[in-house]
Amino acid sequence: MRKKPNNSKDIAKNVQPSVRALAAYHVDETPVRIKLDAMENPFPMPEQARRAILAAVKSSRINLYPDPSAKELKKEIDRLWGIHPDRMILGNGSDELIQDIVIAFGGPVLTPAPSFAMYDLTPRVLSQDVVTVPLTKEFDLDADAVIRKTKLTGAKVIFLANPNNPTGNRFSDAAVRRVLENVSAAVVIDEAYYSFSGRSFLPWISRHPNMIILRTLSKIGFAGLRIGLLTASPSVIAELNKVRLPYNINMLSQAAGVAALKRRALFQKQVDLIVAERKKLYQALLATPGVTPFPSETNFLLIWIEKDATAVFKALKRCGILVKNLDKPGPLKGCLRVTIGTPGQNREFLKNLKQIL
Ligand code: PMP
Repeated sequence: MRKKPNNSKDIAKNVQPSVRALAAYHVDETPVRIKLDAMENPFPMPEQARRAILAAVKSSRINLYPDPSAKELKKEIDRLWGIHPDRMILGNGSDELIQDIVIAFGGPVLTPAPSFAMYDLTPRVLSQDVVTVPLTKEFDLDADAVIRKTKLTGAKVIFLANPNNPTGNRFSDAAVRRVLENVSAAVVIDEAYYSFSGRSFLPWISRHPNMIILRTLSKIGFAGLRIGLLTASPSVIAELNKVRLPYNINMLSQAAGVAALKRRALFQKQVDLIVAERKKLYQALLATPGVTPFPSETNFLLIWIEKDATAVFKALKRCGILVKNLDKPGPLKGCLRVTIGTPGQNREFLKNLKQIL
């Protein structure tokens, strides 16, 4: 006879209360013909890069562990962005580095709202408090409020996505500088969308030892490889390296990343096209009644819909177009976030949106 399950062995009940209280990060996996929800580069891998990646993967000795410090990949990233390999830590996506930072520094963690969901979720998973500070009406950083709340709560880390996700704008340099100069917490400037704005706080890093800069290869064409990176002062790099898991960048990602970055000019062309498409789509949406796009320095647009944004989101999905629905009470009420696609995808999105409206 089958034994009855023993309820006292339901170990899920023993999971930390801070984790049990959470909802998992939700990714909409609906199969669609046009995917504009996740800030991926919509263009296919250039043929030359594809062939180089195949050759690199073919000669990879995957019975061995990967290079633990991913030296070749770091060299290529240095060539791309001018970040010295000794001052660089790579992560399995910058998501992993966000986690490493919170593990190393602990909390409370302070972040503006609205901003990137992982700044909120990761500390909670690690049983750390999260303090949020609303952005201004123009979605700029409220430097005074950030400084005040940091002191009040003893926050150890401040995450600033610049340009910000999901609002798309860059914060004013003066506001970011005021925060950097007036707190002793670690200030993480997450430049995930740097390639689409071209402006960076990297030149400031030697003047601000409390600054950490995060970047990612995901948005420029390598989301599937999961490669993020950070740079900081040597002492912070040494501490964070204790937290980083050994072999966290797998061999195939290293090989493919190196092969692709050696052909970086091909990807720069795609980035330039995405920026040009963003400008075109912004203008087209400005001229569309019932929608207001917000200015963006990223590869996506935040748009406000006059009517029912959730209904528009659902109708787009029925047409096979997936965007991100941000329509809930708060500063993003009525908003959707649309990743810039190929010229054809953007035309199709616009056509369907106009029909729905
Ligand atoms: N930071 C910001 C601001 C983001 O928007 C994202 C992706 N949505 C990430 C980090 C994570 O990027 P990845 O883990 O792919 O490097």
